[in-house]
Amino acid sequence: MIVSKVILTHVRVPLVEPFRISSGAVAEKDAIDVRVESDGLVGYGESSPMSGTFYSSDTPESCWRELSEILIPPLIGREFESLLAASKWIGTLPASHFAKAGIETAFWDMEARRQGKPLYQLLGGTAKPVESGLAVGLYDDTADMVRTIAKYLEDGYKRVKIKIERGRDVALVAAVRAAFGNIPLFVDANGAYDLTDIEVFRALDDFGLMMFEQPFAGGMLAELAELQNKVRTPVCLDESLETEDDLRRAISLGSLKIANIKIQRVGGFGHALSIYEICREHGIPVWIGTMPELGIGQAQGMALGTLSHCKFPTDVEASSRWFRDDIITPWLEVKDGCLHPNTSPGLGFEVDQAKVDLYAVGSRTFVGDTACG
Ligand SMILES: [Mg+2]
Repeated sequence: MIVSKVILTHVRVPLVEPFRISSGAVAEKDAIDVRVESDGLVGYGESSPMSGTFYSSDTPESCWRELSEILIPPLIGREFESLLAASKWIGTLPASHFAKAGIETAFWDMEARRQGKPLYQLLGGTAKPVESGLAVGLYDDTADMVRTIAKYLEDGYKRVKIKIERGRDVALVAAVRAAFGNIPLFVDANGAYDLTDIEVFRALDDFGLMMFEQPFAGGMLAELAELQNKVRTPVCLDESLETEDDLRRAISLGSLKIANIKIQRVGGFGHALSIYEICREHGIPVWIGTMPELGIGQAQGMALGTLSHCKFPTDVEASSRWFRDDIITPWLEVKDGCLHPNTSPGLGFEVDQAKVDLYAVGSRTFVGDTACG
């Protein structure tokens, strides 16, 4: 395949409610839509860091720069003998995982379309429904959090994940248990704690949670192993797992019992699949996390979530859960708590160009030696 054209569009879609975690909040969803053309085929990817730098140091602006200056110029006119060759080559370039995910995943969509297969099949999955979990952010008023959970549980979501931060943890979990009883539930701290907070996690142990997601900062693998030794609840890692080496180190230390795989965080499907394989070999159950992304990224997460070793509901939710609008058609829907992959070739959803144009805050086209727009 020879890449003839790439179009980047930075889109900004308003959120239904602000998304707040232990380190910051956003009210709009920024994403970079990546359209790649080759041999008469088109593939779509999404580069989808959070705006601001509170999940990682990557932002829509930094990813735009990396895509425009590092990743796309050497790609135009370059011939790849296979999808794997393209994925590996992208992996060697000096850019962030979020930027690479935007372009690498577009190649997978394009290859699936070339083979006439749904993306999930190319990834090794099946057409099975994917269980979806509800995620809620932090709220000033706990009653608002409970109301939000009640509203969305009517859609059948298979579990609930709440965000916690220092000083707002045990009481939040107690409030959810009081309101909804013994529903499948867990907490995500986004790295807000350390070993001085061990008593918080011991107290949380009594609530029968599915997991503690990323209790300590990403690099604190030894401390996370110490925590795991002191609590019954399984520790799940998210921000810690950027590379296969991170995962191997975490496994050897005993820092995790569950892994959250995010396509964005690991730089695309190639690395997501190899991290998935390592987890499978070591008996570490996985699930698919989100930023959350807009429709392209979410549909990719759903496709990956069809793989058999994904043992917990995904964070991929209905389009309407977070976004006032979406750039794919049809929108992602959760029915009886499940997402249902489409069997058409590629992503299984069409990109709605009118919506992309409506929400565009910047666009650039790369073709031949020139870039315009
Ligand atoms: Mg997380």
